[in-house]
Amino acid sequence: MGLKEYWSDRSHSQDFKLIRIGFVAVRFRWLVSLLLIGIAGWIAVDWWVLDSAHFHLLWKVRLMAGVMLTPLLPLSYLCKLNRRWMVLSLFALLVILLLFNAVSLWSFRDVAAMPTGYMAFPYFLLALLAVLPLPIRSGVRVAVTIIAAVLATDYWLDSHTLSNGKLIERVWLLLCFSLAMLWVQTGQLRMLLDLYRESTRDPLTRLMNRRLFMEQFKAVRHNSKLGEMCSVILFDLDKFKRINDEHGHLIGDEVLVNVSTTLVDIFGQDATVARYGGEEFVVLLPNTELEQGVRQAETLRLAVESQPIESPLDESEISVTVSAGVAAGDNTHTISELLQRADEALYQAKSRGRNCVIAYE
Ligand code: GH3
Ligand code: MG
Ligand code: MG
Repeated sequence: MGLKEYWSDRSHSQDFKLIRIGFVAVRFRWLVSLLLIGIAGWIAVDWWVLDSAHFHLLWKVRLMAGVMLTPLLPLSYLCKLNRRWMVLSLFALLVILLLFNAVSLWSFRDVAAMPTGYMAFPYFLLALLAVLPLPIRSGVRVAVTIIAAVLATDYWLDSHTLSNGKLIERVWLLLCFSLAMLWVQTGQLRMLLDLYRESTRDPLTRLMNRRLFMEQFKAVRHNSKLGEMCSVILFDLDKFKRINDEHGHLIGDEVLVNVSTTLVDIFGQDATVARYGGEEFVVLLPNTELEQGVRQAETLRLAVESQPIESPLDESEISVTVSAGVAAGDNTHTISELLQRADEALYQAKSRGRNCVIAYE
């Protein structure tokens, strides 16, 4: 993963993408609300600071900006569901605010003649956008759009008189604020990624937990073709309580980690492997018929049976076995139906003496 996950959202899982977009959408809504209050409230400041001609022009401009920003509030609810809506809303926000910046500069004619509040507006905008947990590539796009638009308006509206010194200072300040924005955005993205990992991974085995498994299951079902079968295998360690009682919890933990490594080795990248509960694991095999699922479960059962754990106390071998229940179905079966069937099969495997694989027929 590394830098890639901070650079763009391409390497993010579908589940995390949705969580991040939901987070961005809420912050975006707050941002638009605060901008609406700020833009309207600033009219009072203008009344004190500006001469009457500027005041009468700019309160109308502020009103216009407010009217244009308002539809972004309901739009932010759609953003939660779709990345494209998010990009579109963010772009609309930038266009409206940069237009506001251009019209206010046009009314003063000259950057130097603008009151500090107006001159600082682009920097203020960059600072505000730091609240969005965007990947670096998106942050850079936002910063480049703002810098290019501000410099272009400065050049065209400031009577082409932008001196070298003034231009360099403006670019330098915009770059400094952009870097600060990117830093805060990446920090937030990192925090979200860390929290997400902690809440979706099992700390002992590092397999995904039940919550993420259910999300992945939904996604697999959503993407599968009509009538395509998938198999679910539930594994449960046999007499695991006895291993804990006889050898201690730490050895029990080691057994769990060993089994999880074997699971990942055998089922590889195509399957979704998760820790379902204490000593229970679940595997989802997309595009897999029941017989194939049973065969794979049998491979795992044999692998676990043939890899006893060595006790650190007396170097004796602790044998570990698993029982498995397998169920298969297509889109006509619900997720809980499939899990229920696999569980029933597992129950049968236990009652038939353990260390075996039973398919739900
Ligand atoms: P069965 O063959 O019927 O499944 O018997 P069992 O002993 O495996 O089943 P039972 O449900 O009675 O016991 C499960 C045990 O798993 C109880 C619990 O202490 C242990 N366990 C659950 N999570 C962990 C864990 O994270 N670490 C360790 N060491 N033990 C755990
Ligand atoms: Mg159990
Ligand atoms: Mg058990």
